[in-house]
Order: sequence, then structure tokens, then C-alpha cells
Amino acid sequence: MSFASLGLSEALATAVAAAGYAEPTPVQQRAIPAVLQGRDLMVAAQTGTGKTAGFALPVLERLFPNGHPDKTHQRRPRQARVLVLTPTRELAAQVHDSFKIYARDLPLASACIFGGVGLNPQVQALAKGLDLLVACPGRLLDLAGQGAVDLSHVETLVLDEADRMLDMGFIHDVKKVLALLPAQRQNLLFSATFSKDIVDLASRLLRDPERIEV
Ligand code: AMP
Repeated sequence: MSFASLGLSEALATAVAAAGYAEPTPVQQRAIPAVLQGRDLMVAAQTGTGKTAGFALPVLERLFPNGHPDKTHQRRPRQARVLVLTPTRELAAQVHDSFKIYARDLPLASACIFGGVGLNPQVQALAKGLDLLVACPGRLLDLAGQGAVDLSHVETLVLDEADRMLDMGFIHDVKKVLALLPAQRQNLLFSATFSKDIVDLASRLLRDPERIEV
């Protein structure tokens, strides 16, 4: 099976080939077509399964159909259409780096937002306009409270390592972020396990999700 046969266009297929990926992993084989169809997802996958590319590649395909910006991309100022929430700054940076590798031939504008560092560079990055925001919930709320980030154009939300997000006590922050998003959107939930708390969250968040366990 090839990445192209899953519905990814040339720019992405070339980028994954350059990254040394010979073929899609099992989670990618199931997640990529479902995300391209606009479905919600509930995925139980550990780190190492290729889950990041499982959401990043189809999200990029939807932002740049056939490798080209769509009409929404011309809008100014350009506000984030994809929001990825992660529990830690290390994961945020790692996910953001992955997006940049896959988008090497695409005009993606993105920012990575996390706490423990100065606000100003992040405020400036946001002001430039962007397609994708990768963020930890606490710092994102700080910036939203200051009016530095507009989440009203988000079309796709990814909750990465949602179980860790709950374990670390971020559920209240996540709920506050959800309240800032348009009600009509695609939701992709990734978690190492489907615990009761995750299933509860999923039942409130997801609409008719495709369930994937690898
Ligand atoms: P993840 O599970 O997203 O943390 O990815 C684990 C590692 O697998 C990362 O270093 C990726 O670059 C790599 N990877 C992702 N997809 C593939 C693939 N289809 N073939 C080979 N390596 C991959």
C-alpha cells in the first residue's frame, strides 16, 4: 500500500518518501482515509505507531487539496484552521516539527505555543497569520485571554495524548479551549488507552467517530 493510494497528493507523498517512510503504518492506513472524508476519530495508539503522521498528513491534505491552497487560504488575516492540543511542550514541539517536515513543499504557516517561555515571540508569531496552531492548553488560554489568538476559524481539532492531558489535570483548560471553538468542526482524539474518562470525553466531543485501535 502507498501513501498516494490513501488519497494523499504528490507534495505529501514526496515528503514522506524523503523522510524514509516506505509505506503507511496500520494506524495511518485507517486514519488517513477517515480524516480525508471529514470523519471524527477516536484512536487508541501508543507513541511509535506513526500516529502523528496519521493525523498530520490528512490534515495537511485538507488544508492544501492536491498540494494547493484553497480559497479560504486567501483570507486575511489568516486565522488557524487546525488546532492540535498536546499535554507537554516537548510533544507540542515534536508534533510541530513533524508538520513542518511533511509540509516542506506546501505554503503552511504555523505556530507552536507553550508555557515557560516569553509571551512576546509567540504573540508575534500569531500576529503573522497562520493555518495551523500546535499548543498546550494553559498558554493558549493565556494568549486567547489577551486577544492574541482567534480560534473562531478552527475547522479541525486534534487532541493528542488525551489520556496524559486528563492525568495531568488539564481537563478544565481543555474544556475552556473547546468553548472558544466553532461548534461545527472535525474532532480527532488520540490516546494510548481508552479508559473510562477518555470514553466519557469522547462521547461528549465526537460525532459518530471511526474507532481505531492498534
Ligand atoms: P509517532 O508514533 O507519531 O510518535 O511516530 C514514531 C516514529 O515513526 C517517528 O519517528 C516517525 O517519523 C516514524 N514514522 C511515522 N510513520 C512512519 C512510516 N510510515 N514509516 C516509517 N516510519 C514512520
